[in-house]
Amino acid sequence: MNNIITVDNLNFKYGRNEVLKNISFEVEEGDYVGIVGPNGSGKTTLIKILLGLINSYEGQIHQNIADRNSIGYVPQKGVTNDRLFPATVKEIVITGLLSKKRGTKFYSKEDYNRVDTILNKLKIGDLKDKKIGNLSGGQQQRVLLARAMVSSPSILILDEPTSALDPEIREEFYKLLKELNKENVTIILVSHDILSIEKYISKILYLDKKLVFYGSYEDFRHSKEMVKYFGFIIKD
Ligand code: ADP
Repeated sequence: MNNIITVDNLNFKYGRNEVLKNISFEVEEGDYVGIVGPNGSGKTTLIKILLGLINSYEGQIHQNIADRNSIGYVPQKGVTNDRLFPATVKEIVITGLLSKKRGTKFYSKEDYNRVDTILNKLKIGDLKDKKIGNLSGGQQQRVLLARAMVSSPSILILDEPTSALDPEIREEFYKLLKELNKENVTIILVSHDILSIEKYISKILYLDKKLVFYGSYEDFRHSKEMVKYFGFIIKD
């Protein structure tokens, strides 16, 4: 297996506030990593660093990817609750190709075909001409996933994408992510709720400013770190 991300001795501070301390880990191609940890443990900061949004860190980060377009990002919140917001689903999704466009700002027939393909794959093809503000939270989440996926990234990073969703809709969303993962998209998913993601992930990264645990969920379940942080061991 090839490493797609290598983080070596990463340290980061906001002013004097040390947020990430001596973080080292490797993500292999095709991994599905769940990042968990208490509030304020540095999860979002770590993601921002991986996305290249924060550069003032110490340590080494190597990403074995063609360019920045190879990382797709799904943010935490939905798009809008404003029913009058003018953009349609297909217009939002096609902006996922914007950073790939050099020179021209016009979208081609091929670009629109790609949008159709990804919308159908994520089972929201019938929504393509709908205004985004008229969609439910779960539908908006899929639109954001489509927008991240339309440029065929090799890594997909998601920041608690389902926190506002109903449990069944969240489960469906996780299943969809697993299908993408099976097609060799490496997934990094930040979550508050370890139990809702444990059956999908291949590795867990438990962060509490330092790296408390990194490895398989099976090993985590039986580890002393698990007992320390949760006060119990999850039964089979
Ligand atoms: P998490 O995502 O695990 O909740 P964050 O990465 O958001 O954690 O935050 C880690 C720490 O960094 C917290 O103490 C938070 O208050 C602080 N922090 C986050 N963003 C900023 C910022 N833009 N400026 C200053 N401090 C910040």
